[in-house]
Amino acid sequence: MVALAVPHVRCATCRRPLVPRLVATGCPSCGDIGEIDWSPPTIDGDDLPPFLAWAPLGTDPVTLGEGRTPLVPVARWGDRFGLSHARAKLEYISPTGSFKDRGTAAVVTHARAIGAGSLSEDSSGNAGASLAAYGARAGIPVRVYVPESASGVKVAQISAVGAEVIRVPGSRRGVTEAAIAHARDTGGYYAGHNANPYFTLGMASLAFELAPDPPDHLVMPVGGGSLFVGVALAFAAMGGLRRVTRLHAVQPAGCAPIVAAYERGEPVVAPIDRHATIASGAEIETPPRGRQILDVLALSGGRAIAVTDAELLAHREALAHAEGIDVEPTAALALAGAARLRARGVLVDDESVVIVLTGAGYKVAS
Ligand SMILES: [Zn+2]
Repeated sequence: MVALAVPHVRCATCRRPLVPRLVATGCPSCGDIGEIDWSPPTIDGDDLPPFLAWAPLGTDPVTLGEGRTPLVPVARWGDRFGLSHARAKLEYISPTGSFKDRGTAAVVTHARAIGAGSLSEDSSGNAGASLAAYGARAGIPVRVYVPESASGVKVAQISAVGAEVIRVPGSRRGVTEAAIAHARDTGGYYAGHNANPYFTLGMASLAFELAPDPPDHLVMPVGGGSLFVGVALAFAAMGGLRRVTRLHAVQPAGCAPIVAAYERGEPVVAPIDRHATIASGAEIETPPRGRQILDVLALSGGRAIAVTDAELLAHREALAHAEGIDVEPTAALALAGAARLRARGVLVDDESVVIVLTGAGYKVAS
């Protein structure tokens, strides 16, 4: 094992160093998120560096073989929507079936590097399942706090690898507070994927895989925005956001705070009127990276758009039947969003488009 210094995480606004175990709780002074200084790898043609080898993690990565996901044409789906040159980045082909594994690998590596004795998280979805698996891989006990109503395939996936599932009655905010309190009270590590800068760092790796042949457009689902911001940080580090790839954010119409702020031209996210959606992975009413996401949209010339649950279901089925690729409803956000952007003339057929498919269809009970 190569021992390196673990860098300080500092507040993005006031530069105060954050407690390493609690980097995901944000700055105690001003409330902003933490950030890490890092440099991108040198990418020579198609010769990519090993996953996270470039990241300032302080130790060898905890890995289950994440990253380097397939990039495949989806012309039979795309032909129906004027997107015959579209390609899909198959993030659901990851160790636990979702894109979260890129970020979780970095988070658990950081936790191990600082000697964390336990990990806690608040997620009944893909992030919880991913953390449970990587915690097991690292030999660190994991406790995942979920809403009382949580059930289904993802909770089973968390339990199957030995993590403890704790049900918390009441508000979603209460679930988060319970996960943070556990870390504070026990000296454990709060993984907090939506605001953990190591999670975003892992997400940056996706951009390096696209760097040898960067698309004109990259379409992603956005909930907490860790993928969107991580990819943007990588493109920025590689020489600018404006010049090559436009990053588009797609949200469910029932919970679209980024779209609301974008359409009003506001620099920060405001409270929204929320409705039920089947895109549960993107139901984040107040994303901690809201301001960053809006900054990236402005810098890269991307659009933020909302799509309905009916569109999600239609595109999920259209992709599955045309290409043999079954994704979960949240992942279908990017498909429906790309089709809408094409209909509006933001995408044109001779430009290259990559659609990020974040989670597997088997993640939801049918
Ligand atoms: Zn601060």
